[in-house]
Amino acid sequence: MAQTTPNHTQSVVGWAAHDPSGKITPYIFKRRENGVNDVTIKILYCGICHTDIHHIKNDWGITMYPVVPGHEITGIITKVGSNVKNFKVGDRAAVGCLAAACMECEFCKDSQENYCDKIQFTYNGIFWDGSITYGGYSEMLVADYRFVVHVPENIAMDAAAPLLCAGITVFCPMKDNNLIDSPAKKRIGIVGLGGLGHVAVKFGKAFGHHVTVISTSPSKEKEAKELLGADEFILSTNAMQMQAGKRTLDFILDTVSAKHSLGPILELLKVNGTLSVVGAPEAPFELPSFPLIFGKRSVKGSMTGGMRETQEMMNVCGKYNITCNIEVIKPDQINEALDRLARNDVRYRFVIDIAGGARE
Ligand code: NAP
Ligand code: ZN
Repeated sequence: MAQTTPNHTQSVVGWAAHDPSGKITPYIFKRRENGVNDVTIKILYCGICHTDIHHIKNDWGITMYPVVPGHEITGIITKVGSNVKNFKVGDRAAVGCLAAACMECEFCKDSQENYCDKIQFTYNGIFWDGSITYGGYSEMLVADYRFVVHVPENIAMDAAAPLLCAGITVFCPMKDNNLIDSPAKKRIGIVGLGGLGHVAVKFGKAFGHHVTVISTSPSKEKEAKELLGADEFILSTNAMQMQAGKRTLDFILDTVSAKHSLGPILELLKVNGTLSVVGAPEAPFELPSFPLIFGKRSVKGSMTGGMRETQEMMNVCGKYNITCNIEVIKPDQINEALDRLARNDVRYRFVIDIAGGARE
């Protein structure tokens, strides 16, 4: 589709999956010319989110192949359209999950574009001109400036990249629950210590909360405590530890990418506690009623963040010097990285060095 859209004249080198086997290969495709509201970004780094795997393997049944994944993008602005405000050539810029929204509904007007009914994503979306969007596993991106944010000067472009999805996705539910920069110190739990989970631990500690990691991986305990600063670690497969943790937490964030039961996790909440789910397994969760009703507990979801909150999150990361723990790879290692991510073998986010170490 993109190839036949008239102003899609710019050839771009990228990496795509062509079918659910999930193998990524080099792929040349077209992007639109830089329009009046657009900025062109030379991509330096792109994180590998578990959502990329869900798309590459068509876990959710919505993939339009070929798919060029990637929505954790940092780079340098090389062109700006005549209507563009707040960005200039040479700026350190970043793009996350969102490419377009209606700009007119109540959510768009409040910069909660992520909840616009017409939301379109950075990849596997359909842009305003009818073209399919291609993401950050590529050397260059053209983006509407209203869906671009600035990267604070003091944080590294490679370790900042995953903030654009992993960071904002955990920041918003924490903000919703008054856990960001709040004087009230809470006991919070983070389920799943992966890309999303490890940033959530960092936010929790930066804001002074008591943080418990709830994990299936005994090998992550030492790092969770010593490297990320978690206060406690519960091995979710250990019945005694789960029993000891009952009714201890005010708020839990569930980042798990695979099917699991919410029952045992709900038991860890105090009465009236909230479980916020951001993980998106392809199969429905088990949600037994007893842990829900006996503790008057709530379960809610959250989907990435709006643009104002994304810039706010980046600024908070600049202020507290928060970035991600990353393993940097070259584009020809993407398949190996995806295999390792699927096997839960990454500490804690792969980031593709798209520009081959070209300095920002
Ligand atoms: P990730 O790096 O793979 O981390 C997921 C973690 O879940 C793993 O590190 C592992 O932690 C745990 N886990 C994996 N398999 C499990 C299983 N079978 N049972 C229990 N725990 C398991 O993935 P991610 O990039 O953080 O993404 C996590 C999920 O969030 C994905 O489903 C992704 O699509 C979704 N997501 C949602 C949004 C949103 O807007 N809501 C945004 C981005 C991503 P332990 O080893 O500690 O158990
Ligand atoms: Zn993501």
